[in-house]
Amino acid sequence: MTASDKVKLKPGDTIGILGGGQLGRMLAMAAARLGLRCQVFSPDPDSPAFDVVLNATCAEYADVEALELFANDVDVITYEFENVPAATAMVLAARRPVLPAQKILETTQDRLIEKDFVKRLGIGTADYADVSSAETLQSAIVRIGLPAVIKTRRFGYDGKGQAIIREGDDPILIWEELGTKSAILEAFVPFEREISVIAARSADGHVECYDVTENEHRDHILKYSRVPAAISDDLAAQARAVAEKIALALDYVGVLGVELFVVAGNGGPHVLVNEIAPRVHNSGHWTLDGASISQFEQHIRAIAGWPLGKPVRHGKVTMTNLIGDDILDYEQWLTVPGATVHLYGKGPPRPGRKMGHITEVVPASRK
Ligand code: AMP
Repeated sequence: MTASDKVKLKPGDTIGILGGGQLGRMLAMAAARLGLRCQVFSPDPDSPAFDVVLNATCAEYADVEALELFANDVDVITYEFENVPAATAMVLAARRPVLPAQKILETTQDRLIEKDFVKRLGIGTADYADVSSAETLQSAIVRIGLPAVIKTRRFGYDGKGQAIIREGDDPILIWEELGTKSAILEAFVPFEREISVIAARSADGHVECYDVTENEHRDHILKYSRVPAAISDDLAAQARAVAEKIALALDYVGVLGVELFVVAGNGGPHVLVNEIAPRVHNSGHWTLDGASISQFEQHIRAIAGWPLGKPVRHGKVTMTNLIGDDILDYEQWLTVPGATVHLYGKGPPRPGRKMGHITEVVPASRK
């Protein structure tokens, strides 16, 4: 299959996955259940996704020869992280279809470009300003006010590359500590709750959204996801409509996660988009055991050119991330009724490292 062919995989065909973390691992496991093979490309020899595939490429993302050989071995290429270097995506896209499309990475790798894109769609975000120096930070603070959140435009995740600036702080010191020349300043959003929508879009434009998930973070890292979110049906419909609009505007193929803040307002609560993740998302892990079709399977179906399924939720679901030393208690979870244990097979449990997760389903009704 060349880069310009429309993708239509058959069982036995091979999907190339860029990135070897837990998301790549769970994508490969979902693909295997559908009779599809995966080949994982990752520079890290300890990649957890390597354990579940027969063929792996351990090479740098700048290694053009390795990328070409990888592309030759696979029928379509996808990724499990959004920071795929543009040059890597370009080498691969010249040889095989890359889904979601390479241009989507350009929008979602940069917080400023992403926010401008969301705003152009008429979707609400926190007020924000481009910051490229201590002087522009000062004027951004005057415009946006404090408290505010300063975030690097690129390569931030799990709260890394961001800091809150409060009244009385020294913004210059915070700017210097951030150590970047390109950032955005966002108004601090006094949100009621954080929610996310996991949406899938197929090549023929069909969209399926999962029920809205409510997310609780600890130290900026997702700790719990609960479904359904404790919001009105109207607000849930609004959130899904936002995700659908974004997927359409990006001509997206695959699964994406849209993180939103729920904010109180005079006319009732409304949503603001925080971030778009062009990939399967941690807040969608509940779908592995809490829905008839997981986000991983939906993604594989979409990039394979197969129809999406209509996911049926099995009940109330809680997903608990096992972060760092939480993994040491895994045995305790094995005997919890209704709990399903997912361990990622990673090495040492460093603080903040996502080591596994638990899903607990309370069935909607028992017959
Ligand atoms: P992010 O890396 O942008 O997803 O931010 C990580 C977490 O920091 C979010 O899930 C929020 O809990 C918090 N956060 C980020 N931006 C803001 C904001 N503008 N106002 C309030 N909290 C924020």
